[in-house]
Amino acid sequence: MQHACYSVTAHNHPLERREVPTPEPKGAEVLIRTTGAGVCHSDIHIWEGVYDLGAGNTLTLKDRGVTLPLTMGHEIAGEVVKAGPEAKIKAGASCVVYPWLGCGECATCKRGEENLCTVKARSIGVFQPGGYAEYVLVPHERYCVDLGTLDPAQAAPLACSGVTTYSALKKLGPRIKDQPVVIMGGGGLGHMALTVLRAMQGKGAIVVDIDAEKRKAALEAGALAAIDGAATDASKQIIEATGGGAASVLDLVGASATVGLGIASLKKGGEIVVVGLYGGELKLPLVYLPLRAMGLRGSYVGSLPELKELVALAQAGSLKPVKVTRRKLSEANQALSDLKAGKVVGRVVLVP
Ligand SMILES: [Zn+2]
Ligand SMILES: [Zn+2]
Repeated sequence: MQHACYSVTAHNHPLERREVPTPEPKGAEVLIRTTGAGVCHSDIHIWEGVYDLGAGNTLTLKDRGVTLPLTMGHEIAGEVVKAGPEAKIKAGASCVVYPWLGCGECATCKRGEENLCTVKARSIGVFQPGGYAEYVLVPHERYCVDLGTLDPAQAAPLACSGVTTYSALKKLGPRIKDQPVVIMGGGGLGHMALTVLRAMQGKGAIVVDIDAEKRKAALEAGALAAIDGAATDASKQIIEATGGGAASVLDLVGASATVGLGIASLKKGGEIVVVGLYGGELKLPLVYLPLRAMGLRGSYVGSLPELKELVALAQAGSLKPVKVTRRKLSEANQALSDLKAGKVVGRVVLVP
């Protein structure tokens, strides 16, 4: 049996439609038929093959061990078609796939933080074939999180944008329940962060974006305020809107300008969690760290237990569905280009 997939065969060139042999699941592996594959901003970096480290320096995907051809797609929902002899999962089950696989055997992985494994990164859609395909082989049944009756196209983005924002907001701790979170970036990830924050019983969010459309969308999605990050008095506006400075900043952009603005807007004891991969570098007076007792840290996707928690919130009805636009798998190239051009509000999910 063969199936179609859309793969990066050369960085920065259109994805190529390929017919590849459909794998036979062995051991505890599971073969799923893709029912939804989210198009994520990080797919653009993988497609281009490079991250910007600032000052003219770059980190290439090749340095990270990514080899071509690669079928991207790490936000995958699917229906179990066939399970290997050691997998107990039933054919027909609907699931979302946890894609951030590590070696599975080191202490970090055993602790359930495979996304932080330093032994071997095996992420689906990055280091092994992902969801821009009719079928996906999942290396172990434990990575298939049961969706029950949740809509697969709606649930697919939980695997990346969902768990990324959930994990980052968890790092900000209980303060999110009594003080608004400043969210840098009102795009697809910002929209998800608003929804996840509400499901976590957050106090609310102030969204900062340089794009008027995105600010409008953020307000419609329930943000307490939306501020133009390019305004000369942006930090003053944030300090006012937060009633004296931000206790928590979730930076979904990760650019020098947004992190700088976040630091300028923090109150004493405030914390910034950087998730975005826009790139650039940061010049920070070190005395700020102790004198303002500030925290600055990064967060990379999320763990399998966190994805399970998030799916449970969705099943309980606390996590409201985000705006999803369905497009055909054959439109993968156009979907990526539109995302790169900033034309997407919400999330695009490819369906077969
Ligand atoms: Zn992603
Ligand atoms: Zn590991």
